[in-house]
Amino acid sequence: MPTFIALRAFQDNYIWLLLDETNLQVAAVDPGDAKPVITWLSRHPEYQLNTILLTHHHRDHTGGVLTLKAATGCKVWGPDNSAIQGIDRPLLDGYQLHLGGQQLEVLAVPGHTLDHIAYFCNHPTEPWLLSGDTLFAGGCGRLFEGSAEQMHASLQRLAQLPDDTSIYCTHEYTLANLRFAQAVEPDNADIRVRLEVVEDLRSGGQITLPTTLALEKRTNPFLRCEHPAVVAAASQQAGAPVTPGAETFQVIRGWKDTF
Ligand code: ZN
Ligand code: FE
Repeated sequence: MPTFIALRAFQDNYIWLLLDETNLQVAAVDPGDAKPVITWLSRHPEYQLNTILLTHHHRDHTGGVLTLKAATGCKVWGPDNSAIQGIDRPLLDGYQLHLGGQQLEVLAVPGHTLDHIAYFCNHPTEPWLLSGDTLFAGGCGRLFEGSAEQMHASLQRLAQLPDDTSIYCTHEYTLANLRFAQAVEPDNADIRVRLEVVEDLRSGGQITLPTTLALEKRTNPFLRCEHPAVVAAASQQAGAPVTPGAETFQVIRGWKDTF
């Protein structure tokens, strides 16, 4: 299990550093900006950046790649998308990777973008997932390139992972996401309790991540598109009955866009 460090970038991005404390190596996830990574490395000169992991092509996730590569000689892993500069190892669904003694599996999760991938470590007691802009704490990414069906299928795929999977996403959107979740399910006690916790954390400027899949299944409306309360809320929003699953997902995703 690596040690995870969250570096803040831009308004609300996190660049996750995965520290291999045995070999003093660092992997950086979605470094949209090189500066916070360079600063961290300068304060921890015993560590070397040897890998960058990318989840999708958006600039706030890739903008620091070439600078970091030039500064450190690190290798860059990412989606099989020639529009992303600097990738040494293009990854496809199902690829198995080795990172600091851990085995990672690449999962294609199109929807937010068509090239979006996630990285899953199936550790027997402490599984973890790098979910990028696909699965957020309390929410999910907007549909910039993919369809609602694709995104719903991608989220359903992530929902099959172990319940105790720790989820590291790349934006601090949790508070706004849970306010929306509460509008969808006003009677959901898990959402109410979580919202209080997250309000406290955010009023103190604290990070709300990682989350776990178990918590997301109880509080994230985008993983709850089969639940009668969510289907009913979507039907009310649409002004006509909608079916559980992808259709409910499509309605609540559109609702969130203007919430
Ligand atoms: Zn994005
Ligand atoms: Fe992003």
